[in-house]
Amino acid sequence: MKVIYKKSELKEIVKEAAKTKDIALVPTMGALHKGHKSLIDKAVNENDFVIVSVFVNPTQFGPNEDYDKYPRTLDNDIKLCENSGADIIFAPSPKEMYDEIYFEEKETTLVCPPYKYVNKLCGKSRPGHFDGVCTVVSKLFNLTKCKRAYFGKKDAQQLFIIKKMVSELDFDVEIVPVDIVREDDGLATSSRNTYLSESDRIFAVNIHKGLEKAKELYQKGIIESQTLIDTAMAYLKDFDVDYVEVVSLEDFEKIGTIKNEALMLIAAKTPDKKVRLIDNIEL
Ligand code: AMP
Repeated sequence: MKVIYKKSELKEIVKEAAKTKDIALVPTMGALHKGHKSLIDKAVNENDFVIVSVFVNPTQFGPNEDYDKYPRTLDNDIKLCENSGADIIFAPSPKEMYDEIYFEEKETTLVCPPYKYVNKLCGKSRPGHFDGVCTVVSKLFNLTKCKRAYFGKKDAQQLFIIKKMVSELDFDVEIVPVDIVREDDGLATSSRNTYLSESDRIFAVNIHKGLEKAKELYQKGIIESQTLIDTAMAYLKDFDVDYVEVVSLEDFEKIGTIKNEALMLIAAKTPDKKVRLIDNIEL
């Protein structure tokens, strides 16, 4: 496995590989864990050339977010990718990835999803976040010439928006969704879990418990979203809740009475360290 830091080097390798192989991309911000590993494993199983990108993307972080303190563990990431059978880690610096103008004027050409996709859920509380995500993912698609790209269902709104972007911008890339990986007690595995204090870690599992309880009620025939939302909220008393919502899986619009496939999503900050955690469940 090779670790590549330069776009020019990546392009050379991709040019050669693309002649005989289907290239797959797993975009990540590093601090890799078993959630990322399940994406990489699936990509390795289904393709003959796998590129994992490790890049903490500055354009998707707001000014008061955790860009500076986001965990960076490249040595461990390299080991995990090597053990999983990936072919390349692409780990550019921000200066390699973005042109000078971004660092001088905090501006660059952006890929911006429509307002209706971003005016809710994580897009509402993180203005500009999905512009940054779509921009970096577009750049990675162009650089890697990937046929398939693997995204976790944990970031459900991101997955929805990326699928829309691929369709609306005619990218020739198949988006492959991957199920959420959890710790033994149900907490969704996340690089940000390392920020949790001991008491936060105990509280954090309530997010998943709330989702599970709501699903249980839904399966018993409760189809009013508000009842399910109230049920999940009861598990989040100590949290600073950003949102608890039910949306249609088809268009990500909020729904009152559930008739078709739906998703319940939670974003909440933990009581002690105010770590913002997200999770969701298909109802
Ligand atoms: P990140 O490094 O947080 O940007 O995540 C990179 C990719 O890994 C995204 O597609 C995430 O949805 C996915 N991912 C992160 N955590 C998990 C998890 N616990 N289960 C499944 N996919 C995950």
